[in-house]
Amino acid sequence: MNTVVRTRIPPSPTGENLHIGNVYAALINYVFAKKHNGQFIVRIEDTDRTRFVEGSEDRILDSLEWLGIAPDESTRVGGPYAPYRQSDRLPYYQKYAEELIQKNHAYYCFCTLEELTVMKEEQRKAGKIPRYDGRCKKLDSNESLKRKTAGEKCVVRLQVPDTGVTTYHDVIRGDISFENALIDHQVLLKSDGFPTYHLGVVVDDHLMQISHVIRAEEWISSMPKQLLLYTYLGWEI
Ligand code: GLU
Repeated sequence: MNTVVRTRIPPSPTGENLHIGNVYAALINYVFAKKHNGQFIVRIEDTDRTRFVEGSEDRILDSLEWLGIAPDESTRVGGPYAPYRQSDRLPYYQKYAEELIQKNHAYYCFCTLEELTVMKEEQRKAGKIPRYDGRCKKLDSNESLKRKTAGEKCVVRLQVPDTGVTTYHDVIRGDISFENALIDHQVLLKSDGFPTYHLGVVVDDHLMQISHVIRAEEWISSMPKQLLLYTYLGWEI
């Protein structure tokens, strides 16, 4: 293989112990990297502050060490792409969220939790799949910026094309396509300035030069949003 192989696991410090699914993903990422003389990275995805568990990060790293799956780069051993904890990397996500807004690939959304609840309830009643209906996408961008600057609470959402399909090649499953019309206008940056998983994972996998993403297939459904981000930011998938 010509590429420098760099694999990763990005566990979230949200539980008492390292999840067995993370151990499995770690093992596969580790052996794949080692087989190709590459590096295995552990990045801590601690952006969901409501689920954060004190001490969990240490237990994750201790458990991996105990299992002999030692990362080449992590919050504990450092590395050339530090910091490896997402809460220490907020300026990166904010920068790329701004870039997406400027390129019209993302927009500010001012909807309150109550509005979103009503929206989804109505969609459910109408037999539709509940998803954000794009109402803030229609706002004038100068107007949105003014509201944001004035301190109104908002999030940044992904612009999703109304038509067409997003396709990618999965090494195990082959080509997988998603109807754009069914992709949710994902929140990328929350009102607390923290990214959601989708923005964080794309920005960091790119900046940390991850060559192969090996993860459980429950993440396949996240791919279209992440692919759109790669395309919008002009990055190689
Ligand atoms: N934080 C996710 C997990 O712990 C990472 C998914 C991924 O590998 O992109 O499973």
